[in-house]
Amino acid sequence: MTEHYDVIIIGSGAGGGTLAHTLAASGKRILLLERGDFLPRELENWEPKPVFVAGRYISPDTWFDRDGKQFQPQVHYFVGGATKLYGAALYRLRPGDFEEIKHVNGISPAWPLSYDDFEPWYSRAEQLYQVHGADGEDPTEGPRSEPYPWPAVSHEPRIQQISDDLAKGGYHPFHAPCGILLNEADRPRSTCIRCATCDGYPCLVHAKADAEVIAVRPLLGRDNVTLLTGAEVTRLETDDSGRTVTGVVVSRDGNREVYQADIVAVSAGAANSAKILLNSASDTHPHGLANGSDQVGRNYMFHNCKAIVALAKEKNDTVFQKTLGINDFYFATKDYQWPMGNIQMIGKSNAEAMRGEQPEKTMFAPEWTLSDVAEHAVDFWLTTEDLPVPENRVTTDQDGRVHLAYSSTNDEEADRLYGELKKILNHTGMAAHHVLRKNFYMDMSIPVAGCAHQAGTCRFGTDPATSVLDVNCKAHELDNLYVVDTGFFPSIGAVNPALTAMANALRVGEHLLGRMA
Ligand SMILES: Cc1cc2nc3c(=O)[nH]c(=O)nc-3n(C[C@H](O)[C@H](O)[C@H](O)COP(=O)(O)OP(=O)(O)OC[C@H]3O[C@@H](n4cnc5c(N)ncnc54)[C@H](O)[C@@H]3O)c2cc1C
Ligand code: SF4
Repeated sequence: MTEHYDVIIIGSGAGGGTLAHTLAASGKRILLLERGDFLPRELENWEPKPVFVAGRYISPDTWFDRDGKQFQPQVHYFVGGATKLYGAALYRLRPGDFEEIKHVNGISPAWPLSYDDFEPWYSRAEQLYQVHGADGEDPTEGPRSEPYPWPAVSHEPRIQQISDDLAKGGYHPFHAPCGILLNEADRPRSTCIRCATCDGYPCLVHAKADAEVIAVRPLLGRDNVTLLTGAEVTRLETDDSGRTVTGVVVSRDGNREVYQADIVAVSAGAANSAKILLNSASDTHPHGLANGSDQVGRNYMFHNCKAIVALAKEKNDTVFQKTLGINDFYFATKDYQWPMGNIQMIGKSNAEAMRGEQPEKTMFAPEWTLSDVAEHAVDFWLTTEDLPVPENRVTTDQDGRVHLAYSSTNDEEADRLYGELKKILNHTGMAAHHVLRKNFYMDMSIPVAGCAHQAGTCRFGTDPATSVLDVNCKAHELDNLYVVDTGFFPSIGAVNPALTAMANALRVGEHLLGRMA
């Protein structure tokens, strides 16, 4: 069966879902191909044990590490992609992130576009995804043409206390930008109920500003948009010249189907987009589609992260904890010549989700039960930029399976940031020696599997010899192929990536609308 569309979008997450939303109003015929299904709404959405211990929403897939050892990546194949589980911290990259930055292990390269080029798209993405935030609190934030569309999510008393203590200590804590559909001025009518099971959980009441709720669901009644779930794209075929994608090959219900479109946008997530291109090798593209530069799959990044639990004597009864960020160490400081990164809160620990980590906890706090640890925990997420290293790469084998080679970079900066967090805690009544690693979040116990923040693999740039995509995210070597997910990042900065993928999808969408007009 062959059907023809104006645009085929592969993947319905932050990139693909947002792109579909941008194009839909044009009336163009759009086919959205999604490998997964809708994430079921069920009580388990909000239960820590199924989510974190049983991995209920981690999709079955097997990848292989550098040594050929298989592992299950933390991937989420659903309508909405990884945003179904995300923490909805919707940060803009800093203006400096678009420029070259020197790190202890090398260079974070400049983007072909500046912060000013991206700024209008960030504003539009913040409007679409209803980002809550406070202008002017974070000294590293770039100028904005529009204020945040929603007021910042308020701190609960314990977090407000930490924020006040940090401010007294000379730091610059800020309200973290957040995409939840919370109306604090009208709680009875607020879609979001402000619960404790948000970061890393699906939202049972569809109140998270994820790509399904915000971008894809509103399109489902439209005549010009078709969503096919359970539709895994396995290969792209081209005409004899190799310049035009002529067929999108799909595996669905055990059948092979082929779809056609004037324009094809691959948005399967950084690793899976590389997989599709590499598995589409042909006579005209012997090393994989759009891979004459040998850059497809390379420069894979996913942040150098640490999840940390700090323990205080007093209880922490915070419900929604992800409201505070600290960027005092984002760039080089007077005491340290390298950038360290971002500190933010993550979802509150609870005993059930921590159960797998009991041995470490009891070693550090032997007198406490796991429930005590969870009740007293204050949870932080530390992000240091990792570098786009060519050897950190996705390849595929003769069976088309993903192999992921990754070695961390900037470990010294990440360790230094951890040290700064410990110093910070002295200002907040939390002793440095009561700081623990929290591995269950994002499956940090198997570093290469924790690919939540995956990016790179198809970077954009002006030079076809060193990049896969041009500045519009069109493949240099093809006329109708685009990649619109975090794969286009030439560097990843040290803030969460989703808003940049959304903003870029809006930008590329506008380009496509112009092209199709
Ligand atoms: C637990 C967790 C917490 C996170 N928290 C945050 C946060 O707070 N803030 C933030 O900015 N980011 C966060 N992230 C990361 C964020 O979700 C991703 O950066 C973002 O979703 C990436 O967008 P994408 O379009 O590149 O990929 P995705 O959103 O993953 O979308 C890719 C889509 O492609 C589909 N797909 C894959 N292969 C195929 C194929 N062959 N055929 C068809 N479809 C295919 C997938 O099923 C998926 O729907 C988090 C992620 C996780 C897992
Ligand atoms: S805090 Fe709001 S958005 Fe998050 S899971 Fe709870 S209800 Fe959903």
